[in-house]
Amino acid sequence: MSLAVWVTLAGFVLGATLASFLGLVADRLPKGRSVVAPRSRCDACDTTLQPLDLIPIVSFLAFGGRCRHCRVPLPARLLVVEVIFGVIVASLAVWSFVHADAATFAVLTLWASVLYAAAIIDLDTLELPDVLTLGGTAATATLAGALGIGPVVFGGPWLASLTGMVWAAGSIVLVNRIGGLALRRFRDTNDRLRPIGFDEVNTAAFAGAFLGAVAGLAVAGLQALIKRVHPAHPRLPEPLLYATLPVAFLVAPIGVGLQASVHGLLAGAGTAALVGGVYWWWRDRHTGPEHDQDNATPDAQDPAADEPVAMGFGDVKLAALIGLIVGPSGWWVTLFAAVLAGSVVGLALRMMGGTRLVPFGPFLAFGAWLTVLAGEPLLRAYLGWLQIAPPA
Ligand SMILES: [Zn+2]
Repeated sequence: MSLAVWVTLAGFVLGATLASFLGLVADRLPKGRSVVAPRSRCDACDTTLQPLDLIPIVSFLAFGGRCRHCRVPLPARLLVVEVIFGVIVASLAVWSFVHADAATFAVLTLWASVLYAAAIIDLDTLELPDVLTLGGTAATATLAGALGIGPVVFGGPWLASLTGMVWAAGSIVLVNRIGGLALRRFRDTNDRLRPIGFDEVNTAAFAGAFLGAVAGLAVAGLQALIKRVHPAHPRLPEPLLYATLPVAFLVAPIGVGLQASVHGLLAGAGTAALVGGVYWWWRDRHTGPEHDQDNATPDAQDPAADEPVAMGFGDVKLAALIGLIVGPSGWWVTLFAAVLAGSVVGLALRMMGGTRLVPFGPFLAFGAWLTVLAGEPLLRAYLGWLQIAPPA
């Protein structure tokens, strides 16, 4: 057999093996159970499963999709989860074999594993746990940094990955703010979270669009500091802020320039949203329910103060994880593919009479996979059609 066939097979076996663990993570994590102990048991007869029961795909097929001990049929989902991830990792192995190297494949495998578990949990529960989105982003960024791996679309240094990360988070949080504004019929938001909430995201986006990313974040940081000491902190109403935002692009030629203005908007919003996400993740972990009651009094009038997951916008954090690997250019392919696939599937489900809310996370994950495999040729073709030179 040729080397390419071996790479495909090895990738498939690795993916299916990882998936049997990721399926367990997706099952236990939302219930707050340990992913390490206890060992897997049969749901029907409670027998602790032996290595022979746990060979991915093979055990399921060899025992006819039934528990070897009590013969009760196993959920077909077990098999589906393993086969799909086998195909995904096989495709990433082949892509890395042709276009990159083993180090890139290691980063992609870690990244895809986190993304896959997150997508399954989002399908099941419509939630994206911070430990996967934020923790997975930190882990993937660390491994990519240690191995010196940049974005997979148009390449580039590791630093370009971080631009992809904040652009992706920024574009989703801006869609969220502007969409929310339209849904509230342009009323201001009630969010007054301290010390960091949507006020700081809005400020970083707005100031970033006028002054560039660094200055925008500095202004937002200053606002958060003033908030800490001054309860009646200065803030701009959200409708006014987003109504005047386009002015930033009009005056950009006499200011920081259009490119820096767009970067300031996206990177400002994305960085502020991620700093807020990490802060609230950390705070929720370190503030138990009993601790919360002690602190509840000063903020009792604040409608958002008792919100447990203050910036629980899972898609923003999932976008960060994706942008890190696909990079600032690739992110637009991911977003386009995700919106297209999500709309088609959502429409089809509605026509079949479904009323269930469709989560966006799995479509983002699908778009991200597609972007790794074909994002660069797709972008090159599109830029060629527009007669724009692709980035070097
Ligand atoms: Zn059993």
